[in-house]
Amino acid sequence: MRIFNFSAGPAVLPEAVLEAARDELLDWHGCGMGIMEMSHRGKDFTGVIEAAEADLRALMGIPANYKVLFLQGGATLQFAQIPMNLLAGGSADYVVTGSWSKKAFKEAQRYGAVRLAGTTEAGKFTALPAAADLSFDPSAAYAHICTNETIHGVEMFDLPAVPAGVPIVADMSSHILSRPMDVSKYGLIYAGAQKNIGPAGLVIVIVREDLLGKAAPTTPSVLDYAVMAENGSMLNTPPTFGIYLAGLIFKHLLAQGGLAAVEQANIAKARLLYDAIDGSGGFYRNPVDVACRSRMNVPFTLADGALDAAFLAEAAERRLSGLKGHKSVGGMRASIYNAMSIDGVRALVELMQDFAARKA
Ligand code: PMP
Repeated sequence: MRIFNFSAGPAVLPEAVLEAARDELLDWHGCGMGIMEMSHRGKDFTGVIEAAEADLRALMGIPANYKVLFLQGGATLQFAQIPMNLLAGGSADYVVTGSWSKKAFKEAQRYGAVRLAGTTEAGKFTALPAAADLSFDPSAAYAHICTNETIHGVEMFDLPAVPAGVPIVADMSSHILSRPMDVSKYGLIYAGAQKNIGPAGLVIVIVREDLLGKAAPTTPSVLDYAVMAENGSMLNTPPTFGIYLAGLIFKHLLAQGGLAAVEQANIAKARLLYDAIDGSGGFYRNPVDVACRSRMNVPFTLADGALDAAFLAEAAERRLSGLKGHKSVGGMRASIYNAMSIDGVRALVELMQDFAARKA
């Protein structure tokens, strides 16, 4: 019997997709071998990666002047790969709204000039910066943001007012595919797969074509977006199983009605959980400004931290796992990605209410 897995990532995947992958593991579509065992250059796998790209394009409405790349090294490698490819001797702006954008900012400093356009660190990353607290360089090569901070539970529903002509580069690792996004507003979108897309080991980059071809001369070929785009993400052997599984997820989301339908389900789940926190009379608390509370990652603390261990023990008894908060913020965190069912959120809310009734 499966548990309710609230892990921040690698995270729960849709059961129907896992079952489909299991059924095809040894023999994919009657060809007598599984996806993991076949050449990436053969027509079977080529068909898999092409379908995955086409389905992702359909899901997100990706315009024709954007390339979709299936890469490796996680979102962390993108922290370096982005400046290598886009700085072109110029300077880039970073908005720091949590641990992940802070890491991206720090890593980029190794590759050239980067500026801090604004940070909410003084407020412990519990709100987004006001427009007045951001200052952008109109000649920046790009402006980097993290649209969902996985650790702090802060999500951007509106983009910062970046000067016209400065491409926005967004780390969407922990909320890509959770709702419709207007891809045309971004120069580059990237996301590690292990939350809403599929297994760890795959990272997806969606990049506007005019940003290609500016990589620093020392950039390894395998890290040069232009080279990877020319080679259909297959300059080297790609993470074939991850791409296959991502493709199954994309089909699954399309069958659910696409991202507008997925968003409605995510809104309902998030509302249930935040209502339980806010309605607990202070027993549970989420510190994030209501306007930017994440629908995917919900950190919360118990008023009495001495009860944390008992809460987690009762959660485990009820087969709810992955609720321990990130060590940097403490408390709890419930990650409620696309594949977490509303039943899972209900089970968590029941535990929270029951626990509070006994311990308050
Ligand atoms: N960015 C965000 C928003 C993340 O949540 C994570 C991982 N949790 C990363 C970057 C780093 O991803 P990876 O471990 O795949 O390099």
